[in-house]
Amino acid sequence: MDEPRFELAWTREEGAERAALGFRRTFGTDPVGVWAAPGRVNIIGEHTDYNQGLCAPIALPHCVYAAVAPSDDDTVRLSSAQLAEGELWQIPMDEVRPGNVSGWGAYVAGTIWGMRQRLMPAPAVTAYVDSCVPFGAGLSSSAALSCAFAVAEAALAGVPDSAGLRIRLVDAACDAENQIVGAPTGGLDQSASLRSARAHVLILDFLNSVARQVPFNLASARLELLVIDTKAPHQLNDGQYGSRRASCEAAARKLGVASLREVDDLDAAMRILGPDSVEGKRARHVITEIARTKEFEQIARQGCWEELGRLFQESHNSLRYDYEVTVPELDVAVESALATGAHAARMTGGGFGGSVIAVVPVERLQRVANGVSEAFAQAGFAPPAFLIGTPSAPAARVR
Ligand code: ADP
Ligand code: MG
Repeated sequence: MDEPRFELAWTREEGAERAALGFRRTFGTDPVGVWAAPGRVNIIGEHTDYNQGLCAPIALPHCVYAAVAPSDDDTVRLSSAQLAEGELWQIPMDEVRPGNVSGWGAYVAGTIWGMRQRLMPAPAVTAYVDSCVPFGAGLSSSAALSCAFAVAEAALAGVPDSAGLRIRLVDAACDAENQIVGAPTGGLDQSASLRSARAHVLILDFLNSVARQVPFNLASARLELLVIDTKAPHQLNDGQYGSRRASCEAAARKLGVASLREVDDLDAAMRILGPDSVEGKRARHVITEIARTKEFEQIARQGCWEELGRLFQESHNSLRYDYEVTVPELDVAVESALATGAHAARMTGGGFGGSVIAVVPVERLQRVANGVSEAFAQAGFAPPAFLIGTPSAPAARVR
């Protein structure tokens, strides 16, 4: 077995320098500025966003960096360090509409399109992207990409930064993903990237769009959040996500409520839906997960971290048996992390691959990383990667 690989976050200065250098190499001029937006992990509250529920993400220290200059012909021109060197992705903005844009630039052109649809000024840009957010790991590199451009666009257009602006940028970045890329995601990722705060967890309530920043200071208890990128292919676009969403909507209809958020009697709901039916199982996950997220907020406010073990276990099992979105890599990562010294572990993100989070005493980080890597080798899985999930700052200008 090879040494476990830790994906280190760049400092914001380092990220800014890389993106600015790439811009100069590619376009022969200097960018007007560099903007960064973080990936995220959700601490708890999975598949609750589209059920008007709650979730609890933090921003990772890992960011997408965009070196940007306005373009003078309303065409978007992009290059990325993560793709073939020198290859240009481009589109005139008048060709951007649902169903007409493919490739990674859809996240960028889609965000500009979304802002314009919402009557916000948003110039077309020339840009170079570099990133230390692993992509396809369920850590939301896609939203980080959109959100780096959302803040860049607002700044280039001279719109002053504010909490209100950021709520509108979340919506525009969601438009990019929902309407131009065509992924029916629910707003968690973009909110985390734009509205988080350093050393805090963001409690997001989708019923009323309220966001509360609650101190999340594991470090004072000598704990770290270990993120395990399982490398299992993360596939939300094969219909599984849509079918989960459809089951929730069908369950809500049968229960006579606008969304599963409104259900307060689980037993009564199960009597109507049937506890073993697909809709019953999906609804039970959502209803109990919303309750767990409310409980997590109290735990975070009080710093009772010893409660996280039980809460994470209940959440993981609910996603495994009721929502049926785990894969063997996620289950093995959770089990091996707990077996080698993690206090708490669960899958995070949409599932079907992606990442696991574990709360680990600082002195056991290496042991847990070794234990998970060994369990993966034994199971015949590709080696996982590890990140330290320090709750970090939201999207911002870095140069
Ligand atoms: P996740 O958001 O969990 O990382 P997604 O499949 O939603 O996974 O998004 C990954 C996609 O986002 C990539 O396939 C690519 O289109 C785009 N993307 C993310 N980061 C970059 C980057 N640095 N350069 C180019 N494209 C990127
Ligand atoms: Mg994504």
